[in-house]
Amino acid sequence: MNQIRNFSIIAHIDHGKSTLADRLLELTNTIETRKMKQQVLDQMDLERERGITIKLQPVRMKYSLETPRDNIQETKKFQKPNYENQNPTPEAFSLNLIDTPGHVDFGYEVSRSLAAVEGALLIVDATQGIQAQTLANLYLALEQNLEIIPVLNKIDLAAADTARVSKEVVDLLGCRPEDIILVSAKTGQNVDKVLAAIVDRIPAPKGDKYKPLQALIFDSKFDDYKGVIAYARLFNGRVKAGDKIRFIGAEAESEVIEVGYFSPALKKENSLEAGQIGYIVTGLKKISHCQVGDTIINYSGVSSYQSLRLPGYKQVKPMVFAGIFCREGSEYPELRDSLEKIKLTDAALSYQPENSPALGFGFRCGFLGLLHLEIIQERLKREHDLDLIVTVPSVAYKIYLSKNQDKDKTLENSSEFFIAHSPDQMPNQNQIEAIEEPWVRIDLVTPKQFIGSIMELVQSKRGIYKNTEYLTQDSAVLHYELPLSSILVDFYDKIKTVSKGYASLNYEFLQYRPCKVERLDILVAEEPVDALASIVYSDSAYESGKKIVDSLKHILPRQMFEVKIQACLGYQHSGRNKGGKIIASARIPAMRKDVTAKLYGGDVTRKRKLLEKQKKGKKKMKTLGKVDIPAEAYIAVLKR
Ligand code: GDP
Ligand code: MG
Repeated sequence: MNQIRNFSIIAHIDHGKSTLADRLLELTNTIETRKMKQQVLDQMDLERERGITIKLQPVRMKYSLETPRDNIQETKKFQKPNYENQNPTPEAFSLNLIDTPGHVDFGYEVSRSLAAVEGALLIVDATQGIQAQTLANLYLALEQNLEIIPVLNKIDLAAADTARVSKEVVDLLGCRPEDIILVSAKTGQNVDKVLAAIVDRIPAPKGDKYKPLQALIFDSKFDDYKGVIAYARLFNGRVKAGDKIRFIGAEAESEVIEVGYFSPALKKENSLEAGQIGYIVTGLKKISHCQVGDTIINYSGVSSYQSLRLPGYKQVKPMVFAGIFCREGSEYPELRDSLEKIKLTDAALSYQPENSPALGFGFRCGFLGLLHLEIIQERLKREHDLDLIVTVPSVAYKIYLSKNQDKDKTLENSSEFFIAHSPDQMPNQNQIEAIEEPWVRIDLVTPKQFIGSIMELVQSKRGIYKNTEYLTQDSAVLHYELPLSSILVDFYDKIKTVSKGYASLNYEFLQYRPCKVERLDILVAEEPVDALASIVYSDSAYESGKKIVDSLKHILPRQMFEVKIQACLGYQHSGRNKGGKIIASARIPAMRKDVTAKLYGGDVTRKRKLLEKQKKGKKKMKTLGKVDIPAEAYIAVLKR
């Protein structure tokens, strides 16, 4: 076990994690140069195309002094690592790397990888310096007491400011300047030093292979051939094919079919031991029994096993919700199957069937954030070839029902609440005691000169200023609290615009706080249209209503009769008195068919008769009147 090092790479997005991982794989001959493509660990097509890492991805590398170095192209001289505090041995080191995503939405993937390792490479782009996710990920790593190896990347670029960025890193970590490794992941310069530092500075895993098995599941996957696979870090004991195992949290049992490591493809081995990272083909029937964060132990009849449970990590809850519908109703079963498949590799996705009168059958889905939503949508389109309509995202509201509402004995408890994921789950105002919305804590890292404009923007989004910390003389971290709903629509874009692209942000869920929101109904020809309803702040309901009504006015096709479009607060969906307060309205004039066109000459009475008839007909239509609203109208309004 002295020969094992487990580590992760953390960084702000685009600072070069995946590229550095590529170099490490080359340098250790894990992947032959001719098979090497860029960002090998980004296995999803989507990851390669967009250049972002979405899933964490483990890989085991062999590293020894004897490692043939013909793979090193740009590095001229391989420096012999300094093994002061190791017993020099001819045995190779086994380095387990877990690459992680950098984006805020995937913070939970990062904390999962970090729970399975002893150290982390903290990569900072030397042309950019410390950014919001550098900090966020570093804090996660420090919480786990990991050994941090600071690495400055992209030193091949002319814009690299190694002096300034080194100082930032020294100030942040309290390390010595000589602890920082300056590299170019692109050219390979100094990457060998990174390998040496991993062996030198990151502690070997502790644990005992003769103790009972304790393995932490840090990811899981469903494979068409092998079935449910657990990605696990063994803390104690060992495991091999044929072993009977138990999943403590899931209360499930099974017999191991196969174990192995990541090369990065799955590579079968006889057994896995304490300290190692590898995969276990579990033999479980249901992926839901293989929960990330759960502990796998040896199966035995005794019931005292709870004490073997390893600390997992916090469960992630979806924060952002949107409806997903098929443009072609007949594709619904395919949509359902596709979501089911994606869910197998992405536990954070949640979904439940939803039926909208306008958009048909679909699903209300929960996501970790907007990027997550975007990626799921892309995957549905791409991997499953579905043509989709996605409604405007919203947050989940906590709704406390008024207790005197229902004299029923069951509702005595005033703290009774439920979570509304969409406007149609919002009860009538008079049934509501209080509503709460999710708030987040955000950290904005920005060069000094943009502080003013960023503050203005965040304050206009209902942000509450907490404090400012200076990283260096020229860059600062602003701490704010604000409603999650404020960052849902174009917040990132606006931050980037006001800071000329320099500021970055990170957010995390804080708590639910009281808010004043209402359901805003849209009536078309006096009928409420469910799919157009939304939840708005009471103090800006008027503007929201006006915006929707105005855009509908331009989108809806004209009818044979005049159509009223109204935005209404407090509409009663049940009961005799529909009531409600109209806060905005517009009319689409009737399309007048010229019924008298056929008439020549001046027979006025006939003409009047025809017009009378037309009027009557229209009146009838209006009362029966249901306006067919084209799907395009929904999309246009929802994306307002
Ligand atoms: P990640 O998001 O942290 O995984 O970053 P990537 O590894 O995907 O790198 C982001 C971009 O920076 C890519 O276009 C890389 O080619 C580029 N890049 C990474 N390392 C270097 C480097 O050392 N020098 C230069 N010039 N570009 C780099
Ligand atoms: Mg990457």
